[in-house]
Amino acid sequence: MAEDSIYERLKQQGVTRRDFLKLCGAVAGAIGLSGLPPVQASGLPVTLARSGYKARDQVARVLETKSRLPVIWLEFQDCAGCTEALSRSHSPTLVNLVLNAITVEYHETLSAAAGFQAEGAKHNAMEKYAGQYVLVVEGSIPMALDGAYCTIGGRSALDILKESAAGAAAIIATGNCAAFGGLPKAKPNPTDAKGVWEIVTDKPVVNIPGCPAIPEVFTAVVAHFLVFGALPELDSLNRPKTFYGKTIHDRCLRRPFYEAGKFALSYDDEGAKEGWCLYKLGCKGPTTYNACASLKWDGGLSFPIQAGHPCLGCSEPGFWDGGGFYQGQSAPLSRPDLTVVGAAAAAGAVAGVAVGAANQAQKKAAKKAEKAK
Ligand code: SF4
Repeated sequence: MAEDSIYERLKQQGVTRRDFLKLCGAVAGAIGLSGLPPVQASGLPVTLARSGYKARDQVARVLETKSRLPVIWLEFQDCAGCTEALSRSHSPTLVNLVLNAITVEYHETLSAAAGFQAEGAKHNAMEKYAGQYVLVVEGSIPMALDGAYCTIGGRSALDILKESAAGAAAIIATGNCAAFGGLPKAKPNPTDAKGVWEIVTDKPVVNIPGCPAIPEVFTAVVAHFLVFGALPELDSLNRPKTFYGKTIHDRCLRRPFYEAGKFALSYDDEGAKEGWCLYKLGCKGPTTYNACASLKWDGGLSFPIQAGHPCLGCSEPGFWDGGGFYQGQSAPLSRPDLTVVGAAAAAGAVAGVAVGAANQAQKKAAKKAEKAK
């Protein structure tokens, strides 16, 4: 018996026609069909132009006829952060629609099955959907010692990747680890970790770097594949251009302060309280390509710079060696007068903490002395 279409399945779950069309509009916006505003953090475009309705209807026709897209999700040297981010996304959103439009045949973290059962389900799916399934990879692949650093069911990650990639229609490398090696690839890279596209060269691989990847970007790529049967347009690092075409700095809400030369110099100074630019605290926004400043996180609520922390550049190749989570490293480029590089920024931060602690101690001592009078 043929599987129900995506629309039929949504109907069975109580999704009304009206909501279905709204979600189709969200998908059309996310994949950049003409006439639609860029995808909103909520996943829903605010208004639709005439051509937007056409695009929405085009998506609706596809979802009314296509059955769900089979997905096999592999995890190697990772922390499952991309899975966490995706599975905790808000509802009802584009993410929900897309999760309803795929069937995850294998996923170590989310599967109820384990061991031989889970491995068996994966092999059945690989046979049944050969040439049709989308392979999602989370985590880097260790090459040293014939891949002995990461084995699942007695087989190396390298073996499993090659086998699963052979029957895939397309491959999505989600997160910095799968795309560029991430933390495991940081110097001295003891496992000789690599990203997927360094190993699989005969299949289309789309990189969605980030630590973790933005769920809406992942779902938009899946939506694009659902509707067009192909991956979206990619840049030279195999990232979807729609989301990685501009830097964080290009769309940052603190940009006017940057232009005005107003910079926070510590995390608790007046500038920080006023929301000034975090460049001098090591912000990597000027050299980081991602959509955090426009899509944001947690349903569009905020993102690190809005919350007061400089961008870490987590979607760039080699970001751990450039400071990772713990060390600021700014890239001044167009403003050489403002050069602040790693150690200096980190030293500044440490000094700031020390000064803060000293101030606290002074205040306490003064209070004590006051009481003793
Ligand atoms: S340097 Fe960072 S905080 Fe300042 S405007 Fe650019 S991205 Fe925003």
